[in-house]
This record gives sequence, structure tokens and C-alpha cells, in this order.
Amino acid sequence: MWYVPCVSSGKRIAVIPGDGIGKEVIPQAVSVLKATGAQVQLSYFDWSADRFLADGTTVPRDGFASLAGDFDAVLVGAFGDPRVPSNVHAKEILLGMRFKMDLYANVRPVRLLDSSLCPLKGVEPKDLDFVVIRENTEGVYVDSGGIFKQGTADEVAIQEDVNTHKGVERIIRFAFEYCLQNKKADGTSRSRVLMCDKSNAMTYAGSLWQRVFREVSAEYPQLKSEHMYVDALCTQIVRDPRQFDVIVTNNMFGDIITDLAAALQGGLGMAASGNIHPGKTSMFEPVHGSAPAITGKNIANPFGAILTSAMMLAHLDFSPEAVRIEAAVLEAVRQKKLTQDVGGNLGTREAGEWIAERVRESSSAA
Ligand code: ATP
Repeated sequence: MWYVPCVSSGKRIAVIPGDGIGKEVIPQAVSVLKATGAQVQLSYFDWSADRFLADGTTVPRDGFASLAGDFDAVLVGAFGDPRVPSNVHAKEILLGMRFKMDLYANVRPVRLLDSSLCPLKGVEPKDLDFVVIRENTEGVYVDSGGIFKQGTADEVAIQEDVNTHKGVERIIRFAFEYCLQNKKADGTSRSRVLMCDKSNAMTYAGSLWQRVFREVSAEYPQLKSEHMYVDALCTQIVRDPRQFDVIVTNNMFGDIITDLAAALQGGLGMAASGNIHPGKTSMFEPVHGSAPAITGKNIANPFGAILTSAMMLAHLDFSPEAVRIEAAVLEAVRQKKLTQDVGGNLGTREAGEWIAERVRESSSAA
């Protein structure tokens, strides 16, 4: 048996801590999740570098089919381990989940909880509350291309950027629907969708994105549609993040923009994400990776993983429980109950336990 069901009932969640700090932050996210009292059934999977090194398995046979068929959501830590330099297991597990389960929308909220966390001058929580919707199944990550004459002076490396009409259309539509259906933290409506590309240089893919964005945006006249080239967007995010609401972009630009944006929230340790296909089993993971340099020291920030569990609960219709987690994280930030990467002096476990205790209190009062 490659997963271990536990006792309670309700929504079924597969938990895959993975490697490195994933194995430290996910237990904290799970104990916070349990503290909400949400009716969930957790099953743990050992897909990881340890498993790969022990028996050569990256993903067991029918693994993705089981995740998609037997579970309502998947909670993931991180993959990557210096003992597996090829990173083959990480690629097969993480990209496998995104591609084979067709989790086409990577949703990354960028929200500042306290001005002390932002490296920019004069930026307050009300100024930084946007969402990046990153296309998750196409682009340069599909592994199409090749190397010719490798190791010679004539070496040629080609990495294809794959953009399909279906893929571009559904991610742009997702962004408009997200904008309509989600509010900002202060309760005000979202109203603007900005498409980010590099269509001045990448003209073929750019023309498809531009055309589809125009077509889909015409169906949402109540929302403002905007456009920026990715280089300009990076400048503007740093110069004035207030101007952004919902950003939709391709796989690679989304990857880069969200690391930059995470720095404005307090760093990679604070950022949450969901890999979503509406109506299908979706997967939730903190934005950070396995961070081998800080693994095993009880210093990793668990807040990204904890906020990820809140995102997952909201997705599973446990909105009050998600709100209680977010409120406890906000309180921890205000009271400086933080790990050292964001200016505190707590360890991973201590920071996680502080949040779990607050959530337990608010859940019993609810
Ligand atoms: P991977 O190869 O799995 O992506 P990585 O170390 O290259 O791992 P990240 O895990 O994204 O990339 O982390 C980069 C750096 O950011 C880490 O070395 C660490 O300093 C910091 N970092 C990332 N996540 C956290 C966290 N949760 N808490 C504290 N610092 C973090």
C-alpha cells in the first residue's frame, strides 16, 4: 500500500510532503488544518527523493489516476534533493501532476499582510493585493525540443514554446472568471484583468495571446482589460504594485513574476499557490521549493504552506475555516510570532504551533 488513510470523514485530501523543507512545513500546515475542525480525510503519500533513491519509484503505477479519482484535493510540500542531481523525480511528480491531471491554472495570490514584510518603501497591505494566474500546462515547460551536436563547438539547443488556442483561451477565461468571483482582502470587488506577454519579440505566440485576450475580454465588458509586456510589468510591480489586480500570463513569465512578487510579500516563505482545473481534483503547494540549504534546521517559514492549506480549504467549500487560518496568520505577523526569514525568532514548529493554537481557539469559539 502506498498511502495510509486516516480516520475522519468528509473531503478526501492526499498529502505529499515530498523533500527538503516540504517535510517540515507540511506537518505544520496539516496540524493547522486539523485545528479548524474541517471534516477532511487525510491520506499520506511518500513520493519523494527518499522513495526514489530506495526503490527507483517516482510516481507509482496509476498514481495520478488515483489522485484524480480518489481525492478531492492534493496538498504538496516541495520536491528537489541534491542526492538526485537530475531532479527526475521532482519533474515526474510535480510537472506530472500539473500536466497529467491537466491543472491548467496556477493561482498565486500576492498579498501583503503587514508593511514591515515589504522591502518597498511606503507600501501598506491595502497597496499589495493582486493575483497572478499562470498558465500551467504549456509554454516552454512541455519539454519539447532537443540538443544537436552536444558538446561540440557547433552545439544547438532548442526549447519550444508551445501555445495552443485551447490552452490560451481557457487560462484567459479563468482569469476573467476569477476576477468576477473573487474579492480583495478588504472586501472590495476585483475589476481588472491584465494580460502580460512579450508579443513585441515573441510574435507568433504573442499574436495568439493578443487575439484570444481581445476575444475573451469582449465577453466581460464589466471588467477592465489591460496589457503589459513582461519586462515593463516587472518594473511596474516594484515601482507601484497598487496598479495590479488580476494578472494572467504564460507558464514561464508566471513563474518569474511570482518569485518577484513573493519578495514583496516577505519572501518565498510567505507565498501560497493552487494548481487548479475547475471541477477536477486540484493541487495546492507553497510557492517555495525544497530549499536544501535550510533543510533540517527547523528554520523554514511554514506560513506559505499554512496559507496554502487555507486556499485549499476555501476551494473545498470550507470558507469559514480558511478565513480562521488567514486571520491567525495575520495575527502572528502583527505579534511577530515569526520565523527568522521574516524578522522573527521562532522555529518552524513553534511558529506552526502558535498558529494552530489560535485556530483551535477561534474554531471552538465559532
Ligand atoms: P528547489 O530546487 O526545490 O526549488 P531551491 O533552494 O533552489 O529549491 P527554493 O526552495 O525556492 O529554491 O528557495 C530558495 C531560497 O529561498 C532558499 O535557499 C531559502 O533561503 C529561501 N526560502 C525558500 N523557502 C523558504 C521558507 N519556507 N522559509 C525560509 N526561507 C525560504
